[in-house]
Amino acid sequence: MRKNAFDHMPMGEDGLREVHAWIDSFVEQNQSIADKKVLGKSDDGKWDIPAITITNKSIPDDDKQIAMATLLRHGQERGARIIGAEILNYLASDEAIETRDKQKVIVVPIANPEGFVRDEFNSTMSGITDLEKRIWGKLCNDDTPDMMIDYHSLGKSDATKYDRGDMEVIIPANSTKWGMDEQIYQHVANRMLESAEAKGWPYEIHTLEDLSFYYFGDGPAARLPQRYLQEKVFLLHIQNAYEHYDASSSLPGYTNYTCGPAYMKWHTLVVGMETNHWSIKPEDGLAESGLIPCQALLNMGNNRFPWEKDPGYPTNLLCGDFRISIRAIGNTPGECRVSRERLWPERVNFDILKREMLEDPETTLAEVGYLGENVPLDFALCLRMRQDVIKNVTIDGKNAEFETFKDSCATFLYIPMTVEKPGLQKLTISHEAYHKK
Ligand SMILES: [Zn+2]
Repeated sequence: MRKNAFDHMPMGEDGLREVHAWIDSFVEQNQSIADKKVLGKSDDGKWDIPAITITNKSIPDDDKQIAMATLLRHGQERGARIIGAEILNYLASDEAIETRDKQKVIVVPIANPEGFVRDEFNSTMSGITDLEKRIWGKLCNDDTPDMMIDYHSLGKSDATKYDRGDMEVIIPANSTKWGMDEQIYQHVANRMLESAEAKGWPYEIHTLEDLSFYYFGDGPAARLPQRYLQEKVFLLHIQNAYEHYDASSSLPGYTNYTCGPAYMKWHTLVVGMETNHWSIKPEDGLAESGLIPCQALLNMGNNRFPWEKDPGYPTNLLCGDFRISIRAIGNTPGECRVSRERLWPERVNFDILKREMLEDPETTLAEVGYLGENVPLDFALCLRMRQDVIKNVTIDGKNAEFETFKDSCATFLYIPMTVEKPGLQKLTISHEAYHKK
């Protein structure tokens, strides 16, 4: 087993210098795979905010997934101080060779150096700070993330109102349910949780929806329920979105995780983490408890999800569902990022996604409608089929190219398409009739 980077909690100015020195010596010792860049300086002008890139430099970025881990946006959340180093140590190890070949991973170990030194929150309760706008802007200007994981840490009084000071949490941080994201995020979070639990670290999964109601933390933003149990019961019964607003009309919008804007803009896979520095000490493996779920997530980015055509993070299903969907298109991860960035804001303009099978068991009909103005627009239409032999596809009567790929029991039919002008396109798919083998 690798030695922990920190077996104690670095504190104050000396502690920050210690972490920064550790980072510099790490980059020095791992020059062939590591680079450091500075994203900016803290507001007091005293401290650099470094980002460390780890990758196999001989493979072009366009052939890789881009993953980011950001830590310690909240200064007093001590657990997040020592996990960045642990992630870097892991990424430099032999265990991470495949990840270095298939991904460019950028780690920002200390996002809030002033908060670190003063052991204070030193952040904002509404949105992200001006400093963060600059540093995350610099980070994402250079690279569009496919995945972003943001680390926080709970202390004695910072957990929820019914669990003080003991829990560790994985937060699927998707802020929409488009393109089956609720299911996809739960799938990813559960795999992270299982791998943490296999190493003896109990985690809970809470959605942003849970979090926005009960909030982790004290202070003016904390939403105190009248009784603990009532809070839980209410969560289970949320049906009416407006009820929510009644309970919190005085509260400004709160962005807890740095990665929210990346989801909204690029459909990045975004995850929030809460480790726990109150109940787990550095020498008891606090940093390892934070690393294990991240390691599981990075490994997922090396492999193919059953419903995705290619290996990588599951970000390409942008509209629709597993049965019929609009997908980002491209021959490389880089091309898929460009396509995803263009298609994601257009998701609301796909007004019709329809499929049906009439009397003929060898024909499936489909329709795609697009009402937007961003034309010509390339995408893939993807259908999950019971039939495993696809013979022919036509779009508006003309033969079309297609590919297929499989999950454990079905065939995905993947059809590149272009919208030249807004309107409806009709597809006819010829296939063998379905018989259960
Ligand atoms: Zn926090």
